[in-house]
Amino acid sequence: MVCKYCRRIIDSNYQFCPYCGERVILETKSIKQTKPDLIGSNNTEANRFFTILLLIFVFPFGLFYMWLTRPFTKRTRWIISLAFIITSLLGFIMLIIGTSLPSYQG
Ligand SMILES: [Zn+2]
Repeated sequence: MVCKYCRRIIDSNYQFCPYCGERVILETKSIKQTKPDLIGSNNTEANRFFTILLLIFVFPFGLFYMWLTRPFTKRTRWIISLAFIITSLLGFIMLIIGTSLPSYQG
């Protein structure tokens, strides 16, 4: 790497330039440190998979978990929530119709 103060080639292991004594800034390291989102996105990937599993097997809990950890975008969360509300409402209506109609008792 090249010292940005004296433009001399120095070893990348140095923290300070041996020629001018200026502090050597490791560009690659600082870029990694300014992106903590990258670690979060890896975490989200696993979390997304776990949320989908929950949504399949324990839908209400999956829905709660999804809003708590937010692995999806807001739009996706709303679509899943609305799908859950509509299906549960339909199920509820079907249950009411089924119990109120005495057609299958005979
Ligand atoms: Zn230097």
